[in-house]
Amino acid sequence: MTLLKAVRGTRDLLPPETELWNHVEAVTRRVFARYNFGEIRTPIFEDTSLFARSVGEETDIVSKEMYTWEDRARAQSEKSQSLTLRPENTAGVVRAYIEHNLGETGLLQKLYYIGPQFRRERPQKGRYRQFWQIGAEVIGPPSAGSESPLRDAEVLEMLSSFLDELGITGWNLVLNSVGSSTDRPKYVAALRQALAPVKDRMSPDNQRRAETNPLRVLDSKDPADEAIIATLPKIADYLDEASKAHFAAVCAALDACGVKYEVNPRLVRGLDYYTRTTFEFTHGGLGAQNALLGGGRYDGLSEMLGGPKAPGIGFAMGLDRLILTLQSAQIESAPSASAILADAFVAPLGEQLNAPALKLARDLRRQGLRIELGDGGFRIKKSFEIANKLARNIILLGEDEHASGILTVKNFATGEQTKIPRDQLASALQTR
Ligand code: AMP
Repeated sequence: MTLLKAVRGTRDLLPPETELWNHVEAVTRRVFARYNFGEIRTPIFEDTSLFARSVGEETDIVSKEMYTWEDRARAQSEKSQSLTLRPENTAGVVRAYIEHNLGETGLLQKLYYIGPQFRRERPQKGRYRQFWQIGAEVIGPPSAGSESPLRDAEVLEMLSSFLDELGITGWNLVLNSVGSSTDRPKYVAALRQALAPVKDRMSPDNQRRAETNPLRVLDSKDPADEAIIATLPKIADYLDEASKAHFAAVCAALDACGVKYEVNPRLVRGLDYYTRTTFEFTHGGLGAQNALLGGGRYDGLSEMLGGPKAPGIGFAMGLDRLILTLQSAQIESAPSASAILADAFVAPLGEQLNAPALKLARDLRRQGLRIELGDGGFRIKKSFEIANKLARNIILLGEDEHASGILTVKNFATGEQTKIPRDQLASALQTR
């Protein structure tokens, strides 16, 4: 029989590495709470048209990377429906915003999520078919201030504080403005015009993009096309006064709190819904897939989905890539990748002591200790061997210890063996 393996582009996350994942998630929740964000959990699959309408039919994600299937009706009352595993989470959050009339509160909605996303990409280091994103969205009616450049700057400042708190240094914030929904089509038209006479000399990928999604040509990292790309019109020359002022205000607020950034007029990002501010945080330690996170403003997205006017800004961060960065930098504040040791291993000396050993383990665990439980069927030598791998101490529970309530505890680091009354055991183990 052929052995089944995790599907290409997916992977299992095992302990102790999952400790590091939990640590990053805990820092996320702690930092985002300070900015008064609340958590949202949207379904993992959605109606396919949600992504087609928001992310855009011509994007790589929608045109070739989605896991889509026809969900057959199971009853007459149901209809068949095309469903898709979410390739990103902003569309789902905005759908939920519209569906639950969150705009009617008149307040800004500040929502974050942590969860898996799915794209049929070519797997490589830092790029998977199931990957995790941490993201956040600030969205609301214009009367709540959702268009204000202060919101953009606050999100970017939060991200810089988050990365600092995780201990990740050496990141770069790259910033641009792609203009409003009226500037952008003008720029795209100019781009098409400029590309028309030169595109035949570009790589096949860029020839296709020049037709379908000319903005994506700017994202291209193909060195052979660099010279042509350098001659293309710049978005900055197509921004109207309001977009220019918006971008200047974002930059000024970042300057005021000392968040460093670099403006890159080529940062347009691949998704159709972006307007005005777009950004990416990159990290040199990641290699080819160097984007830690990306995001931007999406002032028209809610309306694209049939909802009310609800400008917003958000980002999505690759959790897999945060973990890779932490591992490559061996950040001290992060839990080490070595096995986490239990406080003690409870070793019953004989099967008749199994039940009392479970009771002892229960009492210690209820006092907050991390306990491994052996088995009275093990020989004492084997108990010691296992305990030494898993725990800092071994507690021997033989007939005498059970009867007297005085337990024998050996500490592996010091080699010291002591007798401890049962009621003092928890505090003794806590101080070791
Ligand atoms: P995007 O939704 O494409 O803007 O991606 C936002 C962030 O998610 C990127 O900066 C990456 O950190 C991460 N990401 C996107 N696609 C993948 C993938 N296939 N594997 C791992 N991380 C990814």
